[in-house]
Amino acid sequence: MDQNKTEAMHRLEDAVLSCKKCALCATRSQSVFGKGSLSPAVLFVGEAPGEQEDREGKPFVGPAGKLLDLYLEFIGLEPQDYYVANILKCRPPHNRDPLPEEEEACLPYLREQLKLLQPKILVCLGRIAAKRIISPDFRITKQRGIWYDLGGLRVMATYHPSALLRDPAKKEEALEDFKKIAAEIEKTKK
Ligand code: URA
Ligand code: SF4
Repeated sequence: MDQNKTEAMHRLEDAVLSCKKCALCATRSQSVFGKGSLSPAVLFVGEAPGEQEDREGKPFVGPAGKLLDLYLEFIGLEPQDYYVANILKCRPPHNRDPLPEEEEACLPYLREQLKLLQPKILVCLGRIAAKRIISPDFRITKQRGIWYDLGGLRVMATYHPSALLRDPAKKEEALEDFKKIAAEIEKTKK
C-alpha cells in the first residue's frame, strides 16, 4: 500500500510538473507540488508559490516559510507529522491573488493529494485557502482558530505567515492557533 501511495504521489507530481491547465504555466519557472511526510497527521495548505518557491520548486522556502518553520518548531512538530502544499501549484505574476479559474483548474491536484495523504487535520494558511476549503465567505480575523468538521476531517484556518510578517501584532493569536493544532494532533495519537 505504501509503495502504491508513493508511486501515486510521484505520478501526480509528474502531472503537476508538466501541467498546462491554466495560463500560469506560461509565466512560472516551475510548478511547486508539495513537500513532507506521506503519512502526515496534518496537511498545511497555503495560497500559491512565491518568488523563491518558483525558483526552488518547493513550497514555503522563502521568508514566509522560515516563519512557518518557527511555528512548527514551537509546537514540536516533527518532519514525519506534516505535509505542506498550496491551492495553486504555480506562481501568479508579482504574487497577485489567484484568479477563480486558476483555482478551479488547480484544485483537483490538491484533492488528490488529500485523498492519498489522508491526514486527520487540515490547516488553511490564510484567507485564500480558507475561502476555498472552508467557506467562500470565510472571515480570517473572525473565524481563525476555530475547528470545523469537513466529513470527518478536522479543519482550521490561521493567519498566513506573510500576514504575520506584515503585521507582527497578529503573532500572538497565531501562537494560540498553533497551540490548538498541537493539542489536536495529540488527540489523533491517542
Ligand atoms: N506563500 C504561500 O502561500 N505558499 C508558499 O509556498 C510560499 C508562500
Ligand atoms: Fe496547472 Fe495548477 Fe500550474 Fe495552473 S497553477 S498550470 S492548473 S499546476
